[in-house]
Amino acid sequence: MAPDLLPRLIAATAATIAAHTEELTTLDQAIGDGDHGVNMKRGFDAIAAAAEEIGAQPLGGALQKAGMTLVMNVGGASGPLYGSLLMGLGKAAGQDGDPDIAAMLAEGVAAVKKRGKSEAGEKTMLDVLVPVLEALRAAEPGGLTAAARAAADRGLAATEDMLATKGRASFLGERSVGHLDPGARSSALLVHAVCDVIEGKA
Ligand code: ADP
Ligand code: MG
Repeated sequence: MAPDLLPRLIAATAATIAAHTEELTTLDQAIGDGDHGVNMKRGFDAIAAAAEEIGAQPLGGALQKAGMTLVMNVGGASGPLYGSLLMGLGKAAGQDGDPDIAAMLAEGVAAVKKRGKSEAGEKTMLDVLVPVLEALRAAEPGGLTAAARAAADRGLAATEDMLATKGRASFLGERSVGHLDPGARSSALLVHAVCDVIEGKA
């Protein structure tokens, strides 16, 4: 693992959430309670504030600590859900050598499904995370980030026509149709930020 990988991941993810806080808020105002931007910003700012402590650990421990930081700092549903994602990623990170990103995301997605009692197709963050996982599994080694980016964008776009059956948006029933899911948008932002780091652009 590159020695500066963790600080770069922390900086890039916190930066994209900060740059899109208002957009996430607006999306959540349409089909939720309007706090998704603030929830995500609070969580990723807390991770950035603990960057030194988190970065001192191996990848697995760092991701688990970052996940706990989200759980402890974010009140909304997204805190425990993204916390579970990061803790799952960390659990599957392995001890040394290059991490298997698809295996890590598989564990992370499984943790979100378990915590959220949810599956893809319910208009949530899983509608980005599951297609990204499938794309990583199918991609050639040289095409991982391109495949992940495209799957994230497709997955996000597909949430617009979906009926929400989990989370606050499900209270709206049919009125949830016609809007992007805020958590799918934040997941897509995070996928692009991680790809930027892997590609050396951030
Ligand atoms: P809250 O819904 O408590 O206000 P946020 O607004 O921060 O929390 O997060 C809302 C997002 O969380 C939704 O857009 C959706 O993507 C995701 N979400 C909500 N419930 C679930 C669930 N059961 N499984 C997966 N994702 C969920
Ligand atoms: Mg909300």
